[in-house]
Amino acid sequence: MTVLTDARIVLPDGVHHGDLHISDGKIVEAASTPGQEVIDLGGRHVVPGFVDMHVHGGAGASYQFGRPDEVRRAAAYHLAHGTTTTMASLVTGAPDDLASAVASLADLAADGVIAGVHLEGPYLARDRCGAHNPSLLRDPDLVEFRRLVRLGRGHVRMITLAPELPGALDLVREAADTGVIAAVGHTDAPGATARTAFDAGARVATHLFNAMRPLHHREGGPIAAAMNDPRVTVELINDGLHVEAAVVRLAFAAAGPSSGPYPPPFKGQAPVDSPSSSPHPPPFNGPAPLDNPSRIALITDAMAAAGMGDGDYSLGGMDVEVRDGRAVLAGGTSIAGSTITMADAFRRAVRDVGVPVHQAAEAASLTPARALGISSRVGSLEPGKDADLVVLDADLRVDWVMRRGIRV
Ligand SMILES: [Zn+2]
Repeated sequence: MTVLTDARIVLPDGVHHGDLHISDGKIVEAASTPGQEVIDLGGRHVVPGFVDMHVHGGAGASYQFGRPDEVRRAAAYHLAHGTTTTMASLVTGAPDDLASAVASLADLAADGVIAGVHLEGPYLARDRCGAHNPSLLRDPDLVEFRRLVRLGRGHVRMITLAPELPGALDLVREAADTGVIAAVGHTDAPGATARTAFDAGARVATHLFNAMRPLHHREGGPIAAAMNDPRVTVELINDGLHVEAAVVRLAFAAAGPSSGPYPPPFKGQAPVDSPSSSPHPPPFNGPAPLDNPSRIALITDAMAAAGMGDGDYSLGGMDVEVRDGRAVLAGGTSIAGSTITMADAFRRAVRDVGVPVHQAAEAASLTPARALGISSRVGSLEPGKDADLVVLDADLRVDWVMRRGIRV
């Protein structure tokens, strides 16, 4: 038994001053056990371990090829910065390269190094491909997808695709049926197409605002479709470069824990000549009910350069230059992933965006855990869950990290 005393425990409903009890790698109800280890936190904040549902690497290492030494190095780097649960995201690659990476990553997922594989592509819109190799983009292919799912042995957890491509909706349905989360992203789809994808089972919007048709007041596109749909979790790259703080604020206002409740699901604009049928949300009457949780998931989308400083790197075979912490395609302007950690994303949400600490922690932990279907085990500092936690210093930077009850 370990007890963290004098802690500011950050829970989904607010910050509670008290003690946190840990036994056998789990958070437990208070109990007096002789011989317990006591760690006095001196009033510091303790937040749940971060859950990064979209990340490509770090510390000079990439998940892209599934090489065990690189995967372990990247995961360890992010773990030291508070990410106790990580997906491994793969950018677009050639069929056999993706297949061999998935097979290898499945072993690492079985070992608990990563929580699963996120296929970002290869079925993405050419016009919104960002840093993905355009020559390797292809139309949705159920045969290839089934092969990847089979090789992943249950560890392919998410696929990002553009819903406007031929066959995309069949793939969304297939993914939903096989327990793979379909995510809408790298897309030029109009709002109606995005809504159709969500109705077909897609449940995530990949890095909202980035690499998708922008929000226009006469065509809200995938951004409005995702923000208006209570079933959809939206990822945000909160690195101060991909989405400016004012827009992150807007996203929290629209899809954060105190927004809504919206009538589920929003189906689009009512005809202007029939105001009585317009889908006005009911008036807001105080705190959000528990069945209307936040839908904002902070992600890093970090690539190998995270933690390495400026220099020349590779992302899925594409050359990337990092200057002043900003990763762009060599010779171009496309942002190519980030160089942040989840700790940076969390701290920026509080310091630069003005999100309350408990809501920023939720966006960095419980919401992505919920989206991935693992919130019964991780995502909050509640009894019965893994003792995955981050102790912060007075400036909200990482002081130390615990995973499954063990300090790392
Ligand atoms: Zn990515």
